[in-house]
Amino acid sequence: MLQTVIIGAGVMGLSIARQLETTHRNVQIIDRSTPRMNASYAAGGMLGAQNEFFEDTSLYRLAMKSREMMPETAQALQRETGMDIEYQKYGLIKVASNLKDIPTLEKQLAFLQSHDHSIKALSSSEMTKRFPHLDLDQSAAFKIQDDGQINANIYTQALIQSVLKRPSVSLMTHTETYGILKENEGYTVQTSKGDIKADELIIAAGAWSGALLNHLDIQLPTHPVKGDVKLIASDYNGLKETIFNVNGCYIVPKKPNRFLIGATSEFDNWSTENNDDNIKWLDRESQRMIPELAHSHTIKSWTGIRPITPDEVPIMGTVRPNLYVTTGHYRNGILLSPIVGELMAKLIDGDTKAHATLAPFTP
Ligand SMILES: Cc1cc2nc3c(=O)[nH]c(=O)nc-3n(C[C@H](O)[C@H](O)[C@H](O)COP(=O)(O)OP(=O)(O)OC[C@H]3O[C@@H](n4cnc5c(N)ncnc54)[C@H](O)[C@@H]3O)c2cc1C
Repeated sequence: MLQTVIIGAGVMGLSIARQLETTHRNVQIIDRSTPRMNASYAAGGMLGAQNEFFEDTSLYRLAMKSREMMPETAQALQRETGMDIEYQKYGLIKVASNLKDIPTLEKQLAFLQSHDHSIKALSSSEMTKRFPHLDLDQSAAFKIQDDGQINANIYTQALIQSVLKRPSVSLMTHTETYGILKENEGYTVQTSKGDIKADELIIAAGAWSGALLNHLDIQLPTHPVKGDVKLIASDYNGLKETIFNVNGCYIVPKKPNRFLIGATSEFDNWSTENNDDNIKWLDRESQRMIPELAHSHTIKSWTGIRPITPDEVPIMGTVRPNLYVTTGHYRNGILLSPIVGELMAKLIDGDTKAHATLAPFTP
């Protein structure tokens, strides 16, 4: 039996573990499980395959396929674990609430409409109805019908339950990796709970992936983008779609009577504490779009560290024989996880088609 080790129990490591062929391998997932030192539990859960893209790239195409896979993934997780990841498809309204952001919005709309005629700008009367408090001369919006959302926190927990149902997969939590050594054809992973031998090693450690590869003298930089998020409860019932402002502030309706308000973006910030000014910005910007949300109470606020690469394109594939990496999914890791899990698992098993699909992201 092959011993396969995955470092990182975020959505990437778990999605690969869920898809790996286990007739000839044991899979050991390792995670240090330090609260807030991850992204997957922190995410808004938007499946923004169209919201996030301005041009036709390999990543856009993967994102569109992955969005399509999410309903089936949600059903499979429900069957396997009994957990409901709250998949919803009420669409997303993209808003520019400042004059300077309108050209960006229009550019994106032109690109999206060239692929999808269902995407429409909101008319003046729709704008007035939706956003009565925005200055109509300074704002614009369009609606994407098909960008849904899930509960990212429950999704990550469901992936854990799902992989643990596989007899050949195990998870070591509260286990920090502090070194990696090359050994013959494989690797030795040095952890806080002792050394672990790996015939195959997969680094899926989010923003920390680059630091782990450094142990093997491999330079593959990954950086953190810290985000502040909050969850509020409100009786406001006028919103089913996600609202996403070009300035980065979004409102994602969650069950029951809750709204996830995100998110700030601070590059190269590893801190795990909420920043008061950032939380005030979230309140101000979300209430500019939906003033009724001022009548709410905060359930909790938190932070997460998004993994980004210098060119903002994820890195996915083979680094060296029996050494693989997947990281840098920045704001779209939840969305991309179904397809990345499938492709990386196939690539590790030598599938040439998966290898070709992942070629634009090769380390
Ligand atoms: C505020 C916020 C909002 C977001 N919103 C969305 C969204 O709406 N839609 C979307 O698609 N994406 C969103 N994202 C992005 C998404 O969450 C990430 O791209 C994705 O979760 C990355 O997954 P990952 O598995 O690569 O990393 P992580 O979830 O960070 O997992 C990496 C794991 O590696 C472990 N690890 C690291 N180093 C070590 C070590 N030395 N030893 C042991 N374990 C280690 C960590 O403990 C962690 O559990 C958001 C992110 C944030 C922070």
